[in-house]
Amino acid sequence: MFRIDLRGLILCSLAGLAAGSAVLTYFWALREVNGSLAAMIVSLTPLLALGLLALRGERFTSRNLVRVALGLAGIYLLIGPGGNISVRGLLLLLGTAVSFAIHIVMIQWYLNPRGDIHTLVMTHSDIDHLGGIHNFPRAPIVIGLAERAQPTPRYFGYRSPIDWPQDVEYQLVDEDTLLGPGVTLLTTPGHSPGHLSLPVQLAETGAVLITGDAIARPAEFEVGFGDAWVEDVARTSAERLMRIAEREQAFIIYGHDPAQRDSIRKVPEFYS
Ligand SMILES: [Zn+2]
Repeated sequence: MFRIDLRGLILCSLAGLAAGSAVLTYFWALREVNGSLAAMIVSLTPLLALGLLALRGERFTSRNLVRVALGLAGIYLLIGPGGNISVRGLLLLLGTAVSFAIHIVMIQWYLNPRGDIHTLVMTHSDIDHLGGIHNFPRAPIVIGLAERAQPTPRYFGYRSPIDWPQDVEYQLVDEDTLLGPGVTLLTTPGHSPGHLSLPVQLAETGAVLITGDAIARPAEFEVGFGDAWVEDVARTSAERLMRIAEREQAFIIYGHDPAQRDSIRKVPEFYS
């Protein structure tokens, strides 16, 4: 069913109001200020947005500071020595830049669904499982110790096009660990050096086992764990997972099973 989140609605309305007042003040200012000068002043918006983002700890580099200074100096040179700009127009344009910056920052802070994600659990570091890892800058990353020990995330035998995120907290796992109520991490190496699988206990669904690529698809037991880092180790981990799944009567979610793919729920649907 379609549901509206009240907090989201209020924040959307406020962000919309900020964008609306930016447009209004801009066109109001155009009655008094030359259009190209107005556009230059409003081009300060990204720098103001970066300044606001810095209030909540995002990186505002010294290079950005230099850019703000240059922008302000440029505006001063345009309007100071020339001297014939309407002060009211100038204030309106600054209002435009500030309103736009507030609009951008509100969306980044409050209307970004990724903000709801407070922990990332990585089964392993193959690019098809971790390609978006840089999109969650504030979430701590739970990952196998041996996986994180690699110089870069794994990438088909070549150097990975992405690096490990810096400035983020890592929780490194090298033994079976209870992550929280109903969520366990099992070390299941073989497909990759530090692979983890997750038995999860859900209130409605019951026991679920997320194998990751420790068992990418059930056929691997017959055709072999061909793309494994060490095949024997991969088979041992996979057999262990099957024993656990059987004991727990778990619903298994495989890493890449074409036969299963269409039948399981995918975001925004979920298992509860
Ligand atoms: Zn993989």
